[in-house]
Amino acid sequence: MEKNDPASRVQDLRQFGEFGGVNPSITDSSTYTFLEADTMVDTFHGESQGCFLYSRHWNPSNKYLADAMAALDETEGGWITASGMAAITCAILELCKCGDHIVTSVTTYGGTFAFLQNYLPKFNIDVSFVNIADLESVEKAILPNTRLVYTESLTNPLLQVSDIAALSEVCKKNDVKLIVDNTFTPMIISPAKLGADIVVYSMTKFINGKNDCVAGAICSTNDFINDLSDVNTGTAMLLGPVLDPIRSSSILKNLHTLHVRMKQHSRNAMYIAEKMEGMGLKVIYPGLKSHPQHELMKKMMHPDFGYGGMLALDLNDHETSNQVMQAMQDKDIGYLAVSLGYFKTLFSCSGSSTSSEVPEEIQREIGLSEGLTRMSIGLDNDIGRTWDKMLSCLKETNVV
Ligand SMILES: *Cc1c(COP(=O)(O)O)cnc(C)c1O
Repeated sequence: MEKNDPASRVQDLRQFGEFGGVNPSITDSSTYTFLEADTMVDTFHGESQGCFLYSRHWNPSNKYLADAMAALDETEGGWITASGMAAITCAILELCKCGDHIVTSVTTYGGTFAFLQNYLPKFNIDVSFVNIADLESVEKAILPNTRLVYTESLTNPLLQVSDIAALSEVCKKNDVKLIVDNTFTPMIISPAKLGADIVVYSMTKFINGKNDCVAGAICSTNDFINDLSDVNTGTAMLLGPVLDPIRSSSILKNLHTLHVRMKQHSRNAMYIAEKMEGMGLKVIYPGLKSHPQHELMKKMMHPDFGYGGMLALDLNDHETSNQVMQAMQDKDIGYLAVSLGYFKTLFSCSGSSTSSEVPEEIQREIGLSEGLTRMSIGLDNDIGRTWDKMLSCLKETNVV
């Protein structure tokens, strides 16, 4: 049987350059000549296939990356944006109008939470925040004017697993769309295959993996991508968060090593999580049997790529978290920085950084302790050596 996994689909892309270069040529142009005047008119009317008009609409370099992202998630089409937030906000605004309603997981990326909570009310769009693991409360929250359900495959920062297939069933039954942010688990989870209508990514993280730029992507049906990019009505076309083609060509090259990197991130994170659990520490990692949705994750994932590079260690209070992170940075384990999916380990205290948009009482309610320390485990060759250093940091700060 032919192997059909995300890495093989990306590997099978045939995208070579204009002059046969092994990498697609970079199209360094904002506008395009039309050899015949009639073609320009047709292109404006969306009736001319394969013609490029203006780079806010489509650029060939962005098209290569969009096609590669569509291959990754096995969707009909893809769209590239200048940030993950641009992908998220364009997808939501394309679906919603004034008076609509959204149901979302209460644990999401802080910027997403802030957009849903603080920004959408300007447009009279109501949002209900629910525990996404409680399917009954999701279904109960759906109203006649609900347009979409929003979640993350693996939620930030509590690493709750969304049951995408079950959510999709609820959405289909109620005729609402399901948007899934798959930033934490590219290759590991294929949300569209499980029933998500729209998959959004911050490519800033694992997909690019170099922390040298900010970028995003949307994977969905051709109809949705056409709607987004419609010259007269498309949210992406009209709000204009387009990625520079030089950047998109560098991300495309990094996408081709994603499978190797995800395996190593997962292997290393599993090792650290098991060691931490063995010491009796409160660690959240979906690869551990103690994770409440370990079996669900196992059922949903492509086993080749592991359980991902993200883990959360609950150090109870903010002060202890700061001391441990400071010690880890001093021992060159990694950097005290927000963001994730980097080749070096990154750590931050979620409540006071990437989730600070979430009000404190909600943080406590969802189980986000003030000492919750999120770690994006790096590509370390000798993870045992890293653990030895980490252990000495935990001892020195009296955590163990
Ligand atoms: C970082 C992140 C975003 C936002 O992406 P940007 O590229 O920073 O705009 C959205 N969702 C998740 C899960 C993220 O980690």
